[in-house]
Amino acid sequence: MENNRIEEVRRKDTLADIDFSLSPFIVIWEITQACDLACRHCRAEAINWRDPRELSTQEGFKLIEEVHSMGTPIMVLSGGDPTKREDIFDLIRYGADLGLRMATIPAATPKLTLQMVKKLKETQLAQMALSLDGPNAKIHDTFRGVPGAFELTLRGAEYAHLVGLPLQINTTFSEYNFDVFDDIAQLVKDLNVVFWEVFFLVPIGRGKLLEQMTAVQYERLFQKLYSFSKEVDFIVKITEAPHYRRYVIEQETKKQPGEKRPFEVRLPSRLTRDFGPGGSIGHAPKGVNAGNGYVFISHTGEIYPSGFLPLSTGNVRNGSLARIYREHPTFQLLRNPDLLKGKCGICQYRTICGGSRSRAYAMTGDIMADEPFCLYQPPERKNRDRIQR
Ligand code: SF4
Repeated sequence: MENNRIEEVRRKDTLADIDFSLSPFIVIWEITQACDLACRHCRAEAINWRDPRELSTQEGFKLIEEVHSMGTPIMVLSGGDPTKREDIFDLIRYGADLGLRMATIPAATPKLTLQMVKKLKETQLAQMALSLDGPNAKIHDTFRGVPGAFELTLRGAEYAHLVGLPLQINTTFSEYNFDVFDDIAQLVKDLNVVFWEVFFLVPIGRGKLLEQMTAVQYERLFQKLYSFSKEVDFIVKITEAPHYRRYVIEQETKKQPGEKRPFEVRLPSRLTRDFGPGGSIGHAPKGVNAGNGYVFISHTGEIYPSGFLPLSTGNVRNGSLARIYREHPTFQLLRNPDLLKGKCGICQYRTICGGSRSRAYAMTGDIMADEPFCLYQPPERKNRDRIQR
């Protein structure tokens, strides 16, 4: 049954053919902001009660139908804590029955019981993500703002394995946990995951108070992530640091002394996998960035290019998601790398990287400003053109 479903999705999606100007690769819907944790980086500044303005179940079904009709393969129900909504099972099943790969990110609280995880598995959920930001209770619980969160995360991971649900771990790196990368990576490996999503902090929401890493630290982390990704068979996906793609291409196209070959910007296969282990959710076939292959719907239906780029472009309650994603000037601007400013605008990697649009906006107020934490110095425009010829 499970294999049939994967085959069906596989036939239906030719992921590499998805045109990001028409269809996002992934849609994130923040189904609620309610959450019992108080994480230090929380983009949503989550609260512990449900907002009465949340999209209803019926509005959610309509949204899921529209996402499916756009040809988007992956939909993530995020939060807050998505399990705060009793209809989460119906929402996941609705999307899965349409053929969407559905994923969710429950908070590790006492609500995340074996029974809950079992029910999630029964809905045909493709993947469950848990957050882990430290290698031990002291570091993780301080970050998450609630004692016991670390133990509950490990327990949640165990439940996922018990019921056979592919497990993803999400980790947000900032100055706070930069030094314990190796220990976190080892723990992620030990947890037998199919997917590790590594977020680079964007200073919005409560995350504004956290200290960011420097451009040198970004590069150091890229180096570690690149080596680590070669050792493991699961997907290591980087979010909000698209210049990791530049780093990987640089490593994989290093020339021998005296060797001459044309400059080529093409994403290596390690960054583009249709499916992860066991048919789990894969990696985008092309570079995804805010508004370009990616769209975020807030709990009240506002349409943003990303959860980390909270610029409203309309609301699903009174507008078409497809039309806004395809035609809104903000989305069109974000998909035009030739309009990037500063060094990103003259960089030969701008079509597959382009820097984090969310971080540029958070730190400068300009969605097209250059990435604040990239060490790369592109050759001047004239040089670049010569390299590309
Ligand atoms: S300069 Fe901008 S586009 Fe070029 S690699 Fe750095 S972040 Fe990416």
